[in-house]
Amino acid sequence: MAGLRVLVGVKRVIDYAVKVRVAAGGGGVQTQGVKHSLNPFCEIALEEGVRLRERGAAAEVVAVSVGTRVCQETLRTALALGADRGVLVEVGEGAAVGPREAAAALAGLAGRLRPHLVLLGKQAIDDDCNQTGQLLAAMLDWPQGTFASRVEPEGEWVRVQREVDGGLETLRLRLPAVLTADLRLNEPRYATLPNIMKAKKKPLEVVAASEFLGGGSPPAPPRLRVLKLEEPPPRGGGQRVDDVPALLERLRASGCI
Ligand code: AMP
Repeated sequence: MAGLRVLVGVKRVIDYAVKVRVAAGGGGVQTQGVKHSLNPFCEIALEEGVRLRERGAAAEVVAVSVGTRVCQETLRTALALGADRGVLVEVGEGAAVGPREAAAALAGLAGRLRPHLVLLGKQAIDDDCNQTGQLLAAMLDWPQGTFASRVEPEGEWVRVQREVDGGLETLRLRLPAVLTADLRLNEPRYATLPNIMKAKKKPLEVVAASEFLGGGSPPAPPRLRVLKLEEPPPRGGGQRVDDVPALLERLRASGCI
């Protein structure tokens, strides 16, 4: 099928290079004044969508973020990286958006935009959940190809090579389908300055999450509560030994060997 419509989920996360600190009280992490970026696995998913369009297999790539207003920044980055348009599914400040809420919002939007392919990252590096794609496929009752390292559309189907323990698995899924991107799917491009400028003019639509998340008042309560976060204990200082026999003796004494 030529001219696939591709929906790509892009999540705003704390930048991978930031040293994450637990917030006072231990109920979360510090986010104020901390650099945020587009989740790296979402960049790979987006790159794949853009490449499909560049080789004529896809007609349109729509980037979607579920979150607060600041996620518009993330969507502008996605537009600079090649998405044709963006959709922010906006939640209110402080609303919990976990995989269940993100998947429900994406499923609602998929019902409206009728994509042939939904491309997500295999995981978000903030929560490491690796659940949204699987939940979304279940909610839509679409086939899923997770941990994809190669994607080849074939008419009404898509052939997907998956990274599985101990090797590779190849699946053929009937469209529409949900795919999640693994690290080796591609190497994402950088946003060039001209493309960053062009992105400012690309369409970015904002829809209220309440349209997809039940809309009730009060909203559906989250099913998962983070009870506590703790930083790992600080590393103890190292010790120097004079030679290899002394090192082996220390290792034996400490029960390491
Ligand atoms: P997770 O299941 O949280 O590890 O996230 C896996 C993938 O789901 C991410 O790489 C995104 O592609 C997508 N996703 C998760 N949360 C959101 C969100 N709030 N907005 C858009 N996409 C999301």
